[in-house]
Amino acid sequence: MSADRLSNMSKEVKPESVSLCPLGTAAAPEQELLCIFGTGDFGRSLGQRLLQTGYKIVYGSRRPHSCAPLPQGAQVTSHAAAAQSATLVFVCIHREHYDFLETLAPQLKGKKVLVDVSNNLKKDLYPEANAEYLQRLIPGAHVVKAFNTLSAWGLQNGPSDASRQVYLCGNSAEAKQGVATVATKLGFTVLDRGSLSAARELEDFPLQLFPEWRLPLRLAIGLTAFFFFYVVMRDVVYTYVGQGKDISFRIMVSMANKVFPIVSLIMLSLCYLPGVIAAFLQLYRGTKYKRFPDWLDRWMLCRKQLGLLALGFAFLHVLYTLIIPIRHYVRFKIAASTISKFKANQTMELDNTLAWRTDSYFSVGILGFGLYVLLGITSLPSVSNALSWREFSFIQSKLGYLTLFFCTFHTYLYGWNKFLSPSYYKWYTPPAYMLCLVVPTVVIVLKLLILLPCVDRSLTRIRRGWERTDPEDDSKNLLLT
Ligand code: NAP
Repeated sequence: MSADRLSNMSKEVKPESVSLCPLGTAAAPEQELLCIFGTGDFGRSLGQRLLQTGYKIVYGSRRPHSCAPLPQGAQVTSHAAAAQSATLVFVCIHREHYDFLETLAPQLKGKKVLVDVSNNLKKDLYPEANAEYLQRLIPGAHVVKAFNTLSAWGLQNGPSDASRQVYLCGNSAEAKQGVATVATKLGFTVLDRGSLSAARELEDFPLQLFPEWRLPLRLAIGLTAFFFFYVVMRDVVYTYVGQGKDISFRIMVSMANKVFPIVSLIMLSLCYLPGVIAAFLQLYRGTKYKRFPDWLDRWMLCRKQLGLLALGFAFLHVLYTLIIPIRHYVRFKIAASTISKFKANQTMELDNTLAWRTDSYFSVGILGFGLYVLLGITSLPSVSNALSWREFSFIQSKLGYLTLFFCTFHTYLYGWNKFLSPSYYKWYTPPAYMLCLVVPTVVIVLKLLILLPCVDRSLTRIRRGWERTDPEDDSKNLLLT
């Protein structure tokens, strides 16, 4: 935070003269006094917001006479005097400097509430959470972990910005209630995460860097790199080796437009594969009460990110397809073919089958993309929150499988009868789009198997709590059906 943004008209208060009711302020008796240790970025931002909300603020500082400019109306004094004057103390100091707080134990004991806002630079830097360490230093106070997931900048902007939630935890319900009241008055939504043992989890929270995007991103990069290499080898290198022709210019558009839909289709099918695997696992185990393996859990948790990345690749495919008619190479080929036919005085008959095939190919692709966009839109929290669970699962599951079907069919139409022609298997390798059809085809076939009435019935029973291993329940269920 820039110091200029805060007024330097802060009031400095001598340790012995901290006044809870400064003269001349009419509303003074109703204003609650809160204490902030530390006049750094976070302490200043928090103080400014608290003052705007109607609280009085006294800062505890090592250098009350020479600290940085503080928000207008705030007082500043020594730590000991500030601690004595308020029951709620925000500790806006880095954990490395907590040691000195031990000397303040007499002033901080009793009903004092210490709010630990600290974060660390790395996970597992210390054996215990910062808040637990603070509690150990001052056992007589009630430590509450809170506000650490906000930034100094976010605090200045208030809850109108993305940071709307204040997570808190602590062992004293009364102390947590006091902190929650302050956070609510500041306009934040409070989420109680339980006792102080949850502090480490809260401290790790700001250190996370898109954890649920990591696997989908790695997968997208890996698939893109692999298929780019595969396509370049089969098209550019093969043509150069076999015919001595350089068609490397096709890398920029033609090959990119081969790779993007391939990656998109594989990633879309990977969104639905874990659900199908989970269904077969439940059928095999005959119960839904056994935990899925960790890898399957992790995979299921990143399906939304997989789907959004898949949609991104589909968008690229659409954009690249739209520019095909304006490409120099395409215009050159059309002109060359027309001129050669003209010179040879040849005419062309409309190939009805080809017309049907290309129209169906485009139409199915457009339908698939339309549904794809719908899936993406409904995964946005603001939209999904407006849907009932049934509506959401109808779109994401039923329409999702329909999207997968359309996109897979679109690719089959692209291949048409090339699957049977040996000339397409350059260096005995199948074209890339044939490779990409493997996973979606497997997913669709497995899903169709699950939809068979006998399989569907067993799966529904399992998902309603029936267990194959429990003979007593089994006989009861049989009697009931
Ligand atoms: P900062 O700008 O470095 O301020 C820390 C303050 O601690 C200093 O201004 C100083 O205040 C005091 N201090 C420094 N050394 C000290 C020592 N040896 N003994 C006692 N007090 C000392 O840091 P900050 O960004 O405000 O962060 C403060 C706390 O908030 C940290 O625990 C941080 O993890 C947490 N936090 C910060 C942010 C953020 O966006 N900045 C976000 C979430 C959580 P005096 O000179 O007045 O004594």
